[in-house]
Amino acid sequence: MKRIVNLSALVAATLAISACVQTPSAPTPPATAPAGPELSLSRLECGTGITNDVGRFSDTYAMDGKKVPFVFSCYLIQRGDEYLLWDSGHAMTAGAPAPKVSLVDQLAQRGIRPEQIKFLGISHYHNDHIGQAASFPQATLLIGKGDWDVVSSPKPVGTNPAFLAPWLTGGSKLETVPLDKDVFGDGRVIMLTTPGHTPGHHSLLVKLKDTGPVLLTGDLAHFHENYETNGVPSFNTNRAETLASLDRFKKIAAQLKATVVLQHDARDVGKLPAFPAAAK
Ligand SMILES: [Zn+2]
Repeated sequence: MKRIVNLSALVAATLAISACVQTPSAPTPPATAPAGPELSLSRLECGTGITNDVGRFSDTYAMDGKKVPFVFSCYLIQRGDEYLLWDSGHAMTAGAPAPKVSLVDQLAQRGIRPEQIKFLGISHYHNDHIGQAASFPQATLLIGKGDWDVVSSPKPVGTNPAFLAPWLTGGSKLETVPLDKDVFGDGRVIMLTTPGHTPGHHSLLVKLKDTGPVLLTGDLAHFHENYETNGVPSFNTNRAETLASLDRFKKIAAQLKATVVLQHDARDVGKLPAFPAAAK
């Protein structure tokens, strides 16, 4: 009896050893957090809020007589020690909608100097998005190619090219973006081509670790009533492109279960922390 038990033990031990050799001794470790430096996103105030008569924001008269509170938003994306500033808001000289505190002074609250901004990404060429661009001449300007073609043309319409003088005439670094652009090259911050509001309009996708994906519209839609009904402003440069861009953007939002932030809609301000705080 004793001999049989020992034999069984030997067989079991042999099987255990062969099992150890033939299969991994421990399961594969769980997937770790996405590789790369920490990513964060904050909202900056880029103009004084207004109540806007939005009739001209519909080319089907759907918004006639309606008023919607508007805000002006810029965003800071930090990746490790690198910064992307998304849109640069109204100029400080813009009169009533001018911001109370400049972008440079807001960034100083976190000790960030203008020359630390590596990329200045512009959703489009309208003056409420490029007003303070010239405060960041050391940044590489990322702008839709279709928009740059207008800004750099002999007679630009709908934009004041003087705000982009460092890149037009001052030798600052420029990258025109024809389609999508993976800003930092790690797949986490992506300019999405969404033309129609202007020829080279872009939205921004930011894939945060804890918050999840966030989509910043640019001016693909200015307020929820238009976003939800695929409303097209009467002053857009291309109606068909606007509808195609809304279709793409909404499909991305659904697929990624992203938080959608309409940059001009006062009701979306609370979706992101106000600078100097940041969503991670
Ligand atoms: Zn705008």
